This record gives sequence, C-alpha cells and structure tokens, in this order.
Amino acid sequence: MADLRAATLTGGNTTLREAAVEEFKKSLRGEVVLPGDPGYNEARTLWNAMIDKRPALIARCAGVSDVIQSVNFARANNLLVAVRGGGHSVPGNSVCDDGIMIDLSRMKSVRVNPAQRTARAEPGVKWGEFDRETQAFGLATTGGTLTDTGLAGLTLGGGIGWLCRKHGLTVDNLLSVDIVTADGQLQTASAEVNPDLFWGVRGGGGNFGIVTSFQYQLHSVGTVLGGMVLHPLDKAKEALKFLHSFAASVPDEVMLGAALLTSPEGQKALAIIACYNGPISAGERVLRPLRQFGPPMADLINPMPYAALQGMLDAAFPPGRRNYFKGNFMNELGSQAVDTLVTRFAAVPSPLSMLALFQLGGAVGRVDPKATAFSHRDAGYHFVVLSLWDNRADDQKNLRWARETWESMRPFFSDGVYVNEMGDAPESDARVREAYGADTYRRLAALKKRYDPTNLFRLNPNIKPAP
Ligand code: FAD
Repeated sequence: MADLRAATLTGGNTTLREAAVEEFKKSLRGEVVLPGDPGYNEARTLWNAMIDKRPALIARCAGVSDVIQSVNFARANNLLVAVRGGGHSVPGNSVCDDGIMIDLSRMKSVRVNPAQRTARAEPGVKWGEFDRETQAFGLATTGGTLTDTGLAGLTLGGGIGWLCRKHGLTVDNLLSVDIVTADGQLQTASAEVNPDLFWGVRGGGGNFGIVTSFQYQLHSVGTVLGGMVLHPLDKAKEALKFLHSFAASVPDEVMLGAALLTSPEGQKALAIIACYNGPISAGERVLRPLRQFGPPMADLINPMPYAALQGMLDAAFPPGRRNYFKGNFMNELGSQAVDTLVTRFAAVPSPLSMLALFQLGGAVGRVDPKATAFSHRDAGYHFVVLSLWDNRADDQKNLRWARETWESMRPFFSDGVYVNEMGDAPESDARVREAYGADTYRRLAALKKRYDPTNLFRLNPNIKPAP
C-alpha cells in the first residue's frame, strides 16, 4: 500500500500517509477496504446503478467503536464523509468520490422486547430483516414499503409506510437513538435525554451524526387485508377521482396507494393498493367500495401476513437498475391533476417506470408539526415520479420524462417535499428549505451549529450550520 490521495470536506485534496491508514485499519474491529481490494466494488455499490462513485477508503464498521474511530479519523484528516446504511439513497448520498465511506451495512443486530413491545436495531438493518424479527412476536412498526430499503436513512427522513395512518410515521414510533456526533462522542437522544437532538433526528436526515442504534415502539400487527385492484389506463381518470373521494372516507386502519404502471404483459394500468390493518371482517366491509368500483379488471386484495404485504412491491424495484425518483406532497387530486398524471404516464418511455401516490393523514396528521423535524403533517399524499430503466443509453430520455412530469404536476403540489424523495443531489438550498419548512429549517440550522459546526455530515439534504 502507498500513501492515498483523498478529497477533503472543503473540495480540496489531502494525502493520507500509509502509516496513518495502517493505524486506522488496526483500530477497527471491521475492515478498511481500499480501491483494488476484494470487496471494494461490492461495498461502494448502491441500489441505484446510476451511482458509480469511488471512495478513497471504505470503513466497514462492525460496531459503535468502529464508527467512533471512523468519525475521528475523518475529522482529523478533514475528509469528505459519506455514511451508508441500507444504500437506498436514489441520488447516491451514501457514497462519494475520493472521500471516506463509513459503511454501516454489516451492523445488523435486531433485538425485540416482546413484553415492552419495543425493538432496537442497528443501522445496517433492512426493513425485511426488521419485520422478520418483530413479526415472530406478531409485532411491527411503520416501515418502508419494500423489504430491501434500509431502516436508517428511511427513519431519519420520516418514514412513510402502510401502517402510518394508524400508527404514525416511523419517526413517530422512534423512542431513542444512540448517535455518534461530529466530535466523535456517543450520545443518546430521546424525549428525556438530549430532547433537542432527538427532535432533529426525527426528520432531519443524517445531518447530526451517525446513528448506531434505533429504538422503536412496536404494535400488534398480524394478518392484514392487502393487495391491489387494477384498472385499464382508459379508466384510470375515473378510478383516480374515485380514489380521492374514497380516501377521504376511510378510517385510520386503511392506507391507500396508487401507481400508474405497465403490466409485465405490456398493458398500461392503474393499480390502487390498499392495506387494512385491523379485523379482517371489518376490512372486507371498509374496502368493499374500492373493490366494486369499475369493476376493476383484477382484484388482488386478500388477507395476508403483514410481511407478505411488505414484500409485495419488491420485484418491481430490484437493485442494479437505473433510477431517478422525484417527489412532492399534494393535498388535492382534482380533475386537472388527474388528467395531467394520466397524460404524462401515457408518454412514459420505460415500461418499468411509475407515477405513484401514497395516502397520508390519519395519525400522521395528528402530530404537532413542531414536535418533530418532519413538519409536513397536513399533507394529503406523497406523490413521486419513479423513473426506472436498464440501459445507460436511455438515461437522457428517462431523466427528461421524469423531470418534465414532475414540472407538469407542480401546479398541484402543496408546500413541502419529503426529505427522502428529493430528486437530485446536491439539491438547491431552496428545495432543501422546502423539505424542512422555513421555521423548522431555522431550528435545525441552530442544532446543526451545535452538533456539527463544520458540516462534517453534509452528504444529505444538507442543513447549513447557523452563522
Ligand atoms: P442510504 O443510502 O444508506 O442512506 C440514505 C441517507 O441517510 C444518506 O444521506 C446517508 O448518509 C444517511 N444515513 C444512512 N444511515 C445513517 C445513519 N445510521 N446515521 C446517519 N445518517 C445515515 N421511503 C419511505 O419513507 N417509505 C417507503 O416506502 C420508501 N420506499 C422506497 C423504495 C425504494 C425502491 C427506494 C429506493 C427508496 C424508498 N424510500 C422510501 C426512500 C428511502 O426512505 C430513502 O431512500 C432512504 O434514505 C433509504 O435509507 P437507506 O439507509 O437505505 O439509505
């Protein structure tokens, strides 16, 4: 091994002496992986194949001590830092060129306390892994809608999933975190200890440090009534209008989603996805209007284990495809919005792409917007353009479609964008402020100044430390 050239936090370069890197290696229980080492390519590869970045070194952490050593090494050498949890950042915030990637993906422990209905998880855990452990006790908390998404990044941004209208966002179920801040200190944050930091990590992304443990409240969740109904594209406008009025009438046990998609047979269609989390007989009654409307060309709603619903969309989002996602919140789904959605989808260049809506409200909307750093409590839907394709040669046309579609939907957006579905990285300051909301941003900037004054953790929807 020779000396290493590495990128600094401020855009310059530095030389890491061979001896210093050797010493760093020895300080870890996990490994340091360098370009050319076995495992380097696997470790730097994210879910989205559009991202192809080459860190100068990757610290594959085995535990909290490794995280502390890595943060101290990065700070002492003024290195550009990327932090990887589950690796699902679509814009690629969890890897960097020439800096240090602090990789948490091997920190996989989950410990469920069935008596207290809580669970502790390390930051390399994915939702499918977490659900497997909690479902052994008939328990769950609000998680993402795919098994492969990392719990860490999803939680820190808010966490939208099928249980959120009943049990709140993932952050609303977060009881405490252990977090290594920029000074290399391990802090606990909860409602009682460091409550300001706890407020910030519930929606403020990875801006305040590296979370090494998440403690969640769990709920009794077993069989749910879930699945989807399908309508042909020429019936999609009526079905979306129906969805909007139906969504306003359903109890918190229901969460609805919609996706304009192309079937494996090549037919464009609208899927309305539903999860009823409660007694199945009551769910049958509540979801009947949805299943009768149209009628749909297929009704795939059935009682199923919660974990089966969580895996239902996995096949449509495998790792290794080229992806661009861009979202915003919406409140109204009026005729013009519906017309725009369907017209734009008719022109989609890739059969893998979708336009999706996820219903919010219920328990999400009953939390005081000031209680957590996720402030968009009045949003009706999370809308997201999901552009997916396979070939590099098709990048420009798919990116163009996604961006133009998002632009054409702009008149129908409400204030705010979900921090975990921003679109590009780095985003403009204006869009970052939109993600947090003006008042929340000011409070977050003051917190950032306290916990990360040099902005060591900047590869995220970044909050600039207050002056
Ligand atoms: P990573 O790429 O590892 O990290 C994402 C960000 O979090 C980076 O900035 C990273 O530095 C930071 N980070 C990661 N771990 C830590 C840590 N321990 N401490 C501090 N910072 C950390 N979101 C939803 O709410 N609901 C969904 O249903 C949902 N579905 C999705 C489906 C797909 C296919 C994809 C690609 C994304 C989906 N998302 C969803 C968005 C998802 O929440 C974000 O992509 C999230 O950032 C993923 O977290 P991760 O740990 O996998 O990502």
